[in-house]
Amino acid sequence: MADAVKLSFVLPCYNEADNIDYIHRELVKVCGSLKEITPELLFIDDGSADGTFERIRKITETDDRVKGIAFSKNFGKTLAIYAGLRESRGDFVITMDSDGQHPPSLIPELIEKQREGFEIVNTRREQNKGVGFLSRMRSRTFYRFINFLSDVKVEPLASDYRLMTRKAVDAFLTLEERDRYTNGLISWMGFRQTSIPFTAPRRHAGRTSFSGRMLLRLGLDGITSFSAKPLRISFTLGLIILVFDFAYGIYAILNFFFGTTIPGWTSMMFTILFLGGVQLVSIGIIGEYIARLFNESKRRPHYFIQDRC
Ligand code: UDP
Ligand code: MG
Repeated sequence: MADAVKLSFVLPCYNEADNIDYIHRELVKVCGSLKEITPELLFIDDGSADGTFERIRKITETDDRVKGIAFSKNFGKTLAIYAGLRESRGDFVITMDSDGQHPPSLIPELIEKQREGFEIVNTRREQNKGVGFLSRMRSRTFYRFINFLSDVKVEPLASDYRLMTRKAVDAFLTLEERDRYTNGLISWMGFRQTSIPFTAPRRHAGRTSFSGRMLLRLGLDGITSFSAKPLRISFTLGLIILVFDFAYGIYAILNFFFGTTIPGWTSMMFTILFLGGVQLVSIGIIGEYIARLFNESKRRPHYFIQDRC
């Protein structure tokens, strides 16, 4: 066994000034108890406005295992994680929230799983202390919905607390799309993955910065970056409507002969219905082409090589 394996921590922070010292202390404590591990702590300040970066800077003055990066504005947690992974130099990387909701006490277990041979060790929130029933339902429904509309399956309640080997990190970094849905990308990547549950405690300090709207944005990214289903739905819808239109057209004709109609009604209805159906189908076909372009334009690599000999 090689001496001292390097373990990087990627910690996105957005207005976490009161949490930086706490998470630093906790991580140093846990790493001290781990043998043969040299930690590297990367704080990514995602455009905080509460002096988060000053706190990070202060720590770097006394602890040279800590590095800080500051974004020019708030780019969002997913890009903060991405940037952190880019900067990381460890043989293994752990990404985690900096508010204490991803308990550092789980780290030995993550490492244990990696030693069993997993390239990616995911985690999922079992139950959230301090999170109401509604918000829990929201998370669950959110993942159900994405999984329904998307081609890649993400575990409900999957979190961004995970360990990745250098191999997995490097693979992840080749995915260069802008609208990133991290959990989906990770699931799509393959490799040997596993997941362990944890119970999220309350935030150490401050309050959550995720709103329902951001969750919706994330959901849309999750769907549109992994499937063309919504586009295809328009095609199917067009077809169904065309069938109904046809039936209604027949009814209109029958009405012309046997019922009472205002002159011109039948031909007008027929034209509207037919054109409507044809237009919807055409939009659907265009959708198919756009879906193709869209998939191509993402320029994802076609596969990853797990091993060579
Ligand atoms: N975060 C970030 N950029 C943002 C929002 C959040 O880097 O735009 C970080 C935040 O500092 C925290 C983590 O992402 O470390 C999770 O955020 P939060 O605790 O607000 O979300 P929740 O735990 O409620 O899902
Ligand atoms: Mg949190």
